[in-house]
Amino acid sequence: MQTKVIKIDRNNIDMKDIAYCADVIRNGGLVCFPTETVYGLGASAFNSEAVKNIYKAKGRPADNPLIVHISDYKMLELVTDCDGEQRNVLNKLAEAFWPGPLTLISHRDDAVPAEVSCGLDTVGIRFPSHPIARALIEAAGVPIAAPSANLSGKPSPTRAEHVIEDMMGRVDVIIDGGNCDVGVESTVFDIAGTKMSVLRPGAVTLEQLLSVVNTADELDWMKPHMDSDEKPRSPGLKYRHYAPNATVNIYDGVRPNLSNYIIEEIKNAKRRGFSVGVLATDESICYYKEVDGVVLSLGSLEDSLQQASNLFHCLRRFDDMGVDMVFAEAVPKGGAGDAVMNRLYRAAGGKIVTVETARDSEGHIC
Ligand code: AMP
Ligand code: MG
Repeated sequence: MQTKVIKIDRNNIDMKDIAYCADVIRNGGLVCFPTETVYGLGASAFNSEAVKNIYKAKGRPADNPLIVHISDYKMLELVTDCDGEQRNVLNKLAEAFWPGPLTLISHRDDAVPAEVSCGLDTVGIRFPSHPIARALIEAAGVPIAAPSANLSGKPSPTRAEHVIEDMMGRVDVIIDGGNCDVGVESTVFDIAGTKMSVLRPGAVTLEQLLSVVNTADELDWMKPHMDSDEKPRSPGLKYRHYAPNATVNIYDGVRPNLSNYIIEEIKNAKRRGFSVGVLATDESICYYKEVDGVVLSLGSLEDSLQQASNLFHCLRRFDDMGVDMVFAEAVPKGGAGDAVMNRLYRAAGGKIVTVETARDSEGHIC
C-alpha cells in the first residue's frame, strides 16, 4: 500500500489537507493523526470493514477494543446508549474533562459495529482536544475509531517519525502534526460497570475524577493480566505492551543507593556482553556518567507531566541505538506518575526490583 505523508501545522491548519484526509476516512481508508495523548490510527467507526483493517495494520489481537473519537455531543448520542444515573455521570464527566485525555466506557449503541468493541456491549469514547484531531473528525462527519498508531505491543507513537517507522505501507495517510503533548494514552474510566473504576491510568487522575463522581476505584495494575484466559475488564491489559525490543528492568528505591545498585547490575550485564541503556531522571543522571551505554533522562523527578511526555520517545530511542537491556529508575506515584509507572511496568513484563530489600546481614546495600 502507498502511504501518503501530509504535514499539517496545528497552529495554521490547511483545511484542504483535512478535507482530503476526511475523504479517505469516509471512503473506508486508514489515517494516522495526532492527538494530545499519542498518535491514533483511525477509520470510520461506522464502517466494520475499515475497522477490521485497523487490527490488520497494527497486528492487534482481535480481543483488544478500540476507542471511538468524537468532535461534538451529537456524535456522543450516536455511539452511546445510556440513560439514568450513567447518563448523569457521563454528562458531568464530559463537562469537566472533555475535550481532553479521558476515555469513558459506556454502553454501546448498535450503530457502532461490534468489531470496534470486540463484541463487548460497551464502547470507549473520547473527545480529543488536539486541533488536528478535532478538525479531522468534524470534516469526516463520522466518529473515528482509533487505537494508538504503533505496531501492536510497541511503545505508542508520540512523534510523526514514530508513526512513519511503524505504519509506512500499512495505512493510506499519515498526518505529520508534530509532537504530542501528554505523551501517554488517555485515562480509561469505566462508568458502565457495577463500580466505576479507572482501568488505565493517564493524565486525568483518580483524584480528579473523584472531584466529580462520589466513588470510584482503580484497577490494581500490578496484578498480572498477561496471557490469562479470564476476561479482563480492560482487555488491553492482558498483553505485554508499550515495550521496546530491549528487555526493560525497573528498580525502585532510595537514591543514591538505587543508582549504585543499578550500576552494579549494569556491570554484570556488560560482562555478559549486553549493550545497556539507563532511563534516569534529571536529578540522577549525573550518577551514570561513567556508564558505557545510552543514558537518557525522563525529565525531572518532580515533573510527572514531563516524564509522561518523554517516556515513549526514550523507549524508542533505546531501540534506535541498538540497546539490549534498559535499566530504568522508578518514578514517584501521583499525578501522571501512575501512568508513567503503569506503562514502564508493562514494558518490563510486570516486574519491579525493590532495591531496599537487597541488603546484606548488616543492613548495607549490596
Ligand atoms: P489503545 O489504542 O492502546 O489506546 O487501546 C485502547 C484501550 O482502551 C484498550 O486497550 C482497552 O484497554 C481500553 N478500552 C477500549 N474500549 C474498551 C471497552 N469497551 N471496555 C474496556 N476497555 C476498553
Ligand atoms: Mg495502544
